Amino acid sequence: FAVTAARGRFAPSPTGRLHFGSLVAALGSWLFARSAGASWIVRMEDLDREREVAGAAAGILAALDAFGLAGDEPVVAQSARTPLYAAALARLERDGHAYRCWCSRTDLEPFGGIHPPACVAPARDRSPAWRLHVGSARIGFDDRVQGAQHQDLAHEVGDFVIWRADGACAYQLAVVVDDAAQGIGEVVRGADLLDSTPRQILLQRLLGFPLPTYAHLPLALGADGRKLSKHEAALAVDARDPLPALRAALHFLGQPASTERNVHMLLSRASREFDALRIPRTATAPPAFAAARN
Ligand code: GLU
Repeated sequence: FAVTAARGRFAPSPTGRLHFGSLVAALGSWLFARSAGASWIVRMEDLDREREVAGAAAGILAALDAFGLAGDEPVVAQSARTPLYAAALARLERDGHAYRCWCSRTDLEPFGGIHPPACVAPARDRSPAWRLHVGSARIGFDDRVQGAQHQDLAHEVGDFVIWRADGACAYQLAVVVDDAAQGIGEVVRGADLLDSTPRQILLQRLLGFPLPTYAHLPLALGADGRKLSKHEAALAVDARDPLPALRAALHFLGQPASTERNVHMLLSRASREFDALRIPRTATAPPAFAAARN
């Protein structure tokens, strides 16, 4: 069956300011959706309270506005959706796919950090996490940018956490529930999430959700071709002067240069001219965003 026109989303975590990599993800997902005449929404992924930075969510949304990338619907925050995630967990438990786990990192060291098919914790003296039985699932999918992907979940990932011991729903489950509930047909995001996708596809199958298509955008490499350092990658883009960063992001995505002097004109032209086949698998960030180190 076909998912209706590939509705897209940008799903930032409020852990800092909008940086070049997240602008690329926002613009890339917007272009995929808009060029197909589909809607595009923003979802705030604020489940990890420890990593959250005060004011970051508002700052990211204000920056997106300045870049002309406001969603078509009110922003949904994951922190308000726990009952939805809890219902999905309950279904997975009922169907025998989820189990409680008390393992610490140390408990998993003998297994190379890969959780075996049952909890191996010697004691059950604190609140448990929930893990998913991955069984012998080998997952393959065809990524629109990165090509054919395969993962042997049991050997490469192991049974993974879907609900954290601190009581928060884990990213992998929340993202799958939300993408389904929000009718997302095409997931476009940074390639740092490529190896999470098989976990999400397994969850979609077990929950009977439709499978979106995937496009994982290149990660920004520094001008020297090396991965950006955490510091460089976190450099904020200047939302007061949006055109240079938007042009750089378009260039980064392999799209034609544009001389438009207005954010909305530039975006509408970019969506008309958008060609997903031009997106490179890896790309180099312009020096301004790769930050000269001294
Ligand atoms: N919230 C995730 C992040 O900022 C992105 C999730 C996604 O796009 O699936 O890394």
